[in-house]
Amino acid sequence: MRTCFPTMSGFTLTFLGSGTSYGIPMIGCHCPTCTSQDPRDNRLRSSVWIHNEDVSLLIDSGPDLRLQALRYGIERLDAMLLTHTHADHLNGLDDLRAFTRLTHQPLPVYAAQEHIQFLMSHFEYVFQERNPAFGWGIPRLEPHAVWDAPFTVGPLCIQPVPLLHGRWLSIGYRMGNLAYLTDCSGIPESSLPLLEGIQVLVIDALRTKPHPTHLHFDSALALARFLGAAHTYFTHISHETLHASEQARLPEDITIAYDGLNLNVSL
Ligand SMILES: [Zn+2]
Ligand SMILES: [Zn+2]
Ligand SMILES: [Zn+2]
Repeated sequence: MRTCFPTMSGFTLTFLGSGTSYGIPMIGCHCPTCTSQDPRDNRLRSSVWIHNEDVSLLIDSGPDLRLQALRYGIERLDAMLLTHTHADHLNGLDDLRAFTRLTHQPLPVYAAQEHIQFLMSHFEYVFQERNPAFGWGIPRLEPHAVWDAPFTVGPLCIQPVPLLHGRWLSIGYRMGNLAYLTDCSGIPESSLPLLEGIQVLVIDALRTKPHPTHLHFDSALALARFLGAAHTYFTHISHETLHASEQARLPEDITIAYDGLNLNVSL
């Protein structure tokens, strides 16, 4: 079923954010993680940037998008891949206008059909023909519905991976031997063949205790073992996880991701 194979090395995956929906520190919280001086405990909302000199892809446009783009130097995008429509993954959408303002081209956005329908009802203006009265002051997006068939962006072959996220749908994305599976409580059997042979796994692991709509450390670790990833990165981390002490308890092939972490990947 899978048709995407790694063909090119030399890409970087940058964690723009690795935190759960509140971000860390949480407003009004004085717990050890929210008051930690370890920069790895300071987490913006989860998203990643996959890039090299030729290609620039964003996965999710959370509410910290502007800060993330400035912090990590994102100045152009070829496409945005949306995992789902929860606010912590979507509500920076309007800041995509900074990119379309520069190119005067609509930005392709890849998402499940039901997520595109949500965008069309909540952000209708980003799909309208450009109104000369607004110039390029509003974002212009070009929707592409995805499910389980691969698609291409420039030289990249991208495999969407439908995931369970409690009672919601979330879309993971596989490129080459890398899979990014945020906001996931389980992988449907029909999606397992899409993940055969992955080497680098980025997966939701909210905290050590179970949660109804997210994987936790034990369930994420079990899935990493089942999928046979060579190295796994936990993301979408809550303030119940103090980086240094929890990392020390994990096997060597499991890393708790943190903001600004860069991975060299083959796609
Ligand atoms: Zn989330
Ligand atoms: Zn806290
Ligand atoms: Zn979510």
